[in-house]
Parts: sequence; structure tokens; C-alpha cells
Amino acid sequence: MTIAENIQAIRGRMAAAAQRAGRDPGEILLVGASKMNDAAACREAVAAGIDALGENRVQEMTAKLQEHAYDGAPLHFIGHLQRNKVRQVVGTASLIHSVGSLELLEEIRRQAEKRALVQDVLLEVNIGGEPGKSGFAPDSLRDAAEQAAAMPHVRIRGLMTIPPIQREPHGNLPFFAKVARLYVDIGRDLYDNKFDCLSMGMSDDFEDAIEAGATMVRVGSAIFGHRHYQ
Ligand SMILES: *Cc1c(COP(=O)(O)O)cnc(C)c1O
Repeated sequence: MTIAENIQAIRGRMAAAAQRAGRDPGEILLVGASKMNDAAACREAVAAGIDALGENRVQEMTAKLQEHAYDGAPLHFIGHLQRNKVRQVVGTASLIHSVGSLELLEEIRRQAEKRALVQDVLLEVNIGGEPGKSGFAPDSLRDAAEQAAAMPHVRIRGLMTIPPIQREPHGNLPFFAKVARLYVDIGRDLYDNKFDCLSMGMSDDFEDAIEAGATMVRVGSAIFGHRHYQ
């Protein structure tokens, strides 16, 4: 299967999941998680109409930018972001999905102010409360969202999550449902119903995420094939 065929098949499954949930398939974006795939693979995904590409590592993103990997599609940053690398991502990625602390958000704000721009971001939720995993704990999210709402130069567009690894089929569904609840409640109470990005679901569970309300799924291996870790 080619990248284009994979994308087409995933679009079909996304549309079916949306229909099962009574949702408009057009409101759900497919973000290609392109880590460890080369610029040629990224360009193939762009040519096949991917809605955005998401990278995890700043160094890899910078190298692939020079090879015009993302020309023609929005570039998102979806991986763990270190504060000392924020400068390279602000203004380059149109959306940063993975903002899991107020310290990181403050550094994004600072760099965005320097560049006189507004950076779109999502707050990452550690919905399983897993120790050592990045993201806001569910019970600290509302407070963080309230502080973030007052910050100039950053615009919080919604939430992102990666649930704990589950063994049973559909095991992530309750976690997705919890994050969808937070997205609706916080968006209504603190953001005037202006949230428009709920980023959740990957190759193995994007249909469940869509049924729970995701507006963006981040799909890697189902598009690009298995990654080969050294
Ligand atoms: C790699 C990655 C994905 C995609 O994972 P697959 O299981 O390959 O679809 C999604 N989100 C993040 C943050 C990732 O790092």
C-alpha cells in the first residue's frame, strides 16, 4: 500500500466513525505523525491531501524543513518540547499540541511576544494521571486554562491527550470521553465556546477518538508504515 492509498483508507474509516457518531466528517482533520519518516514520505502525504503534518523532534523538523518536506500543508508540533527549543518552534509550527506545563506555556508566550505573533497551542492533558508523563493533571487543568486565557501572544485552541496504553479493544474510549468532557466544559466556562481543536486518537484508536468527539487525529504508522527505531 502506498502512502496515498493508506490516507484514502484512513479517510474512509474516519468518515464512517464520524457518521456512527452523527458528526460531520468534514470537521475532523487528519494530522500525519511523520516522525522518523523522510522528507519524500512527507511530500507524498502532502500530495495525497493530508490536512497537516505533525513532528516530534525539533532537530528532525528543522532538517526536514530545509528539504521542503511540509510545503503545501500546515506544520504542527506534537512531541515533547523542551523549553530551550521553543524558539525554533514558535512561529514555525502553526499549532503546538503538546503544552503540558505553565512553564512551557510562559516560554512560548515570551518567544511569541519577541516575534510579535500569536502562537496557537493546545493544552496537553495527562488523563490517566500517569507519573512521569507530560501533560496537566485533570484536576489542575481548569486552573491552568484560566491562567492561559489571560496570556497575550498565545491562543489556546483546545486540548490534546495521549491515554495510558490499554490492552483491551476500545480501552481508550473512557479516557477520550473524559477529555472530551473537559474540552466542552472548559471551552464553555473559560473560552466563550471558542475551542475548536480536540486532538486525540492515533493509528490504533482514532475511530474511538472520533466517536468521543476528536476534531484532529494524529496518525503515524497507519499512514507511513512501521517506524524503525535504532
Ligand atoms: C507517533 C505519535 C503519534 C502517531 O502514532 P501511531 O501509533 O504511529 O499512529 C501520535 N501522536 C504523537 C504525539 C506521536 O508521538
